[in-house]
Amino acid sequence: MANIPSPIENPEIKFTKLFINNEWVNSVSGKTFPTINPCTEEKICDVQEGDKADVDKAVAAAKNAFKLGSEWRKMDASKRGALLNKLADLIERDAQYLASLETFDNGKPYTASYFADVNLTIKCYRYYAGWADKNHGKVIPIDGEYFCYTRHEPVGVCGAIIPWNFPLLMQAWKLGPALACGNTVVMKTAEQTPLTGLYIASLIKEAGFPAGVVNIISGYGPTAGAAISEHMDVDKVAFTGSTEIGRIVMRAAAQSNLKRVTLELGGKSPIIVCADADIDDAVETAHFGLFFNMGQCCCAGSRVYVQESVYDDFVQKSAARAKRRTVGNPWQPSIEQGPQIDSEQFNKILGLIEKGKKSGAKLMCGGKRWGNKGYFVEPTVFADVDQNSVIAKEEIFGPVQQIMKFKTIDEVIQKANDTVYGLAAAVMTKDLDKAITLSNSIKAGTVWVNSYNVLTAAAPFGGFQMSGQGRELGEYGLRNYTEIKTVTMKISEKNS
Ligand code: NAP
Repeated sequence: MANIPSPIENPEIKFTKLFINNEWVNSVSGKTFPTINPCTEEKICDVQEGDKADVDKAVAAAKNAFKLGSEWRKMDASKRGALLNKLADLIERDAQYLASLETFDNGKPYTASYFADVNLTIKCYRYYAGWADKNHGKVIPIDGEYFCYTRHEPVGVCGAIIPWNFPLLMQAWKLGPALACGNTVVMKTAEQTPLTGLYIASLIKEAGFPAGVVNIISGYGPTAGAAISEHMDVDKVAFTGSTEIGRIVMRAAAQSNLKRVTLELGGKSPIIVCADADIDDAVETAHFGLFFNMGQCCCAGSRVYVQESVYDDFVQKSAARAKRRTVGNPWQPSIEQGPQIDSEQFNKILGLIEKGKKSGAKLMCGGKRWGNKGYFVEPTVFADVDQNSVIAKEEIFGPVQQIMKFKTIDEVIQKANDTVYGLAAAVMTKDLDKAITLSNSIKAGTVWVNSYNVLTAAAPFGGFQMSGQGRELGEYGLRNYTEIKTVTMKISEKNS
């Protein structure tokens, strides 16, 4: 494939310790945990397992780095931007290794790791590098003899808890804005995918960030993750993952120090295909919208509503496309789909497929395990899905597409909004009025028209309803990492 270096199929594992205060350390408990290759179900290596005691050390380091007068607090904003750009340069230098490591630990196709994950990670750090010296306050003309202005100050020690579906990118979505605004960070990576996050830590040190500014803890949610969300010295927590754990994080924040919370949670995003749409294009867009990253996307377009006059054609073509999807060895450039992340997700998906079969939905293709080694699931398409069935309601987080029929625009608005979620949606139509009516009517943080998964660091992303709180990315994403301070000075008249 053009412009892509060949993968390193067995990348050397260079970092397995915790990264605290710019040092590699063992966990206080001495415990380790294995990280597994989801293609082979074999152990890659053991990684140090951080828990509360390690989080306490990391928070102390981050708090110290944030002290007034510290190197980080005194650093020019433009220098923070330069450090973020330097980090992006180093990721670019090591892109082949990082993409290989991501595929090894996560199972996603190497082409996706390289072109999507690593590429977007670099762009995210560069985007926020640009904001470092541009996130400024205002002068406000208040009544009276006063000079009033606002300052955008960093929040402090920011906790971050990230998932396994896009390890590098989720790390960048949190570190980029946090560091641009001058915060310090304690991050817990997902237990399934600790390796690329630790390698990025080594690049953070190499780039020249002062000690304690970024701390990376590998470990489990109920121990290390909970210690971050409950910590009295963590000023803000940013979480990406399931709605269920999002609730726990928010509760922990409320019960500790009322730290600021942003949540990027699950979804059950609708794709609406109107009869006037280019059907071949709609089939391919909906296929990509659901099957990308093995369906392990918070914004996966897992409910496809198709207008009745084109429904049968759309269903046949979608099933044919899913049957053509190439599954297997993620190092091969022709492979579109690798394994699911772990046995838990694999079994959950197969269980939901069985519920789909029992619900009366029509299984058009797939429906089983693919192969006999690794957590591979066949690309699966259900048609004639009941709006109230489990597979139309629950987030499957796997390669399972649900197709449903609609007659009128009013009906599809009601059906699309019949969910507790609200992360993303798509509208496929050539009619501008329909595109605007539907985009305005659907409860979702992002609506794509005649496209899907267009994610860029410059545009905000986040959910309505139970898909989350707050927005990541773009200028809006800076708000989560900034405290606004109002300064008002009395102006005394001077006559001499
Ligand atoms: P999850 O449990 O929500 O995990 C997300 C992160 O939260 C992980 O780092 C996890 O640690 C941590 N965590 C778990 N329990 C915690 C606690 N009590 N306090 C603080 N942090 C905690 O997600 P999952 O188990 O990986 O996947 C389950 C479902 O979540 C999926 O099927 C999918 O529906 C959804 N999901 C959504 C996204 C998204 O992008 N919105 C991403 C991943 C999963 P561990 O490493 O120990 O798990």
